[in-house]
Amino acid sequence: MFCVVALLLAATAGCSDDSSNQDSNKAPYDKAAANAALTKDDTGQLQKPSNAENNQSAAYEATRNTGIKKRDQFYAMGTLIEVITYDVDKAVHVKAIQEIEAMFLALSRRWQPWPQPNQADGELAIINKNLLAGLAAPSNEQFNRIMLEATELSVASRGFFNPAVGKLVQLWGFDGKSDKPLISAPLAEDINALVGAKHGMHLLRFTANSVSSVEPLALDFGAFLKGYAVDRAVDILRDYSITNGLVEAGGDLRAIGQAGDRPWRIGIRNPRQSGVLAVIEMQSGESIFTSGDYERFFEVEVDDLAKPINQNESDSQARVFAKKKQRFHHILDPRTGYPAANTVSVTVITKNGALADAAATALFVAGPSQWYKVAASMGVKHVLLMDVDGNVYLNPAMAGRVQFKSTPKGAITLSKPLR
Ligand code: ADP
Ligand code: MG
Repeated sequence: MFCVVALLLAATAGCSDDSSNQDSNKAPYDKAAANAALTKDDTGQLQKPSNAENNQSAAYEATRNTGIKKRDQFYAMGTLIEVITYDVDKAVHVKAIQEIEAMFLALSRRWQPWPQPNQADGELAIINKNLLAGLAAPSNEQFNRIMLEATELSVASRGFFNPAVGKLVQLWGFDGKSDKPLISAPLAEDINALVGAKHGMHLLRFTANSVSSVEPLALDFGAFLKGYAVDRAVDILRDYSITNGLVEAGGDLRAIGQAGDRPWRIGIRNPRQSGVLAVIEMQSGESIFTSGDYERFFEVEVDDLAKPINQNESDSQARVFAKKKQRFHHILDPRTGYPAANTVSVTVITKNGALADAAATALFVAGPSQWYKVAASMGVKHVLLMDVDGNVYLNPAMAGRVQFKSTPKGAITLSKPLR
């Protein structure tokens, strides 16, 4: 499965193919060049992309643009990070990329929720160990600020975005450890022990150099950290006076300025078919983030209750059913403890990557019936949601921005305006 949800379209293309462009300094990025050939499969494992996928991207990159593009990639936070700049001096571009890569790697290490083999524990792993033991944990001004920002977003999302689901994420096996893929859902009693009012950000208490929790819990910022990091990466581009650039983390991105002589154009992937569902032109500074049930999941064979095979058997005899696959994905509903039902993907555009990331996750969980209310309370102005039946829901401002490239399977429903 191709990991990039948002595909960069024609307008991002340079007048020359930067992957072979002499002007794009690849020398310090051999590792990145190797990583560039990797994508995630259904379980989040890395694998090589198919030729078809490569060809598809290449086709989009084929049109002409007068800008000089430079592009570099590296691997961090379990995904491929790509930074593109236009019309920037080579030395400046390289310095900015190095700083951005170092920032991503440091955030990823420090905010890793659980101890990693052969690595010293990061701050969040130490915080979680203490919070689960009912102890105050060492923190600092920067950590407190980020945790408080996430707490505010959690409150605004009415708890649908809830980074206090750390233990639940671990129970479902979506904590990034590929050595223990799940083959069935966890036990209901284990799930039930990790939901409810005892697992929320409102339970955290801060001092200048510590954090504690009223109840034992663990934090996981996997639904927010990429957005936060993309914002910091844009800050770095601006520090280097780069005015035309884009930072993409596994399909989620923030763009400033233009792609050479035209706006950045982003493709939203069709969640259940190959290819692009819609295209959006970005305004300078905007972020576009998507949460999808195809990013990380496992499937289990279950009885298809709609398809009895031995239909004529009497009730006293066991019915035999056809089998179907049930998908368990990584976006969890904090109310039930199970993967959020009903939604396949949500794309949001906001001014800020951290908000976009948290909101895409929150609206995914809120689903077709509650997304509008949650978008309004989070201050999100552009939303496109696809449900499990292929129906598309979007607000009028988003409808004014998207150009559909393929027809959704279900109906397209326009909401009231989001103010
Ligand atoms: P992705 O990182 O694949 O783009 P998201 O931004 O939606 O997807 O983040 C999903 C990750 O966030 C999960 O892997 C898990 O670590 C964590 N998570 C899952 N459910 C929630 C939730 N309801 N609120 C906050 N974090 C969540
Ligand atoms: Mg998110």
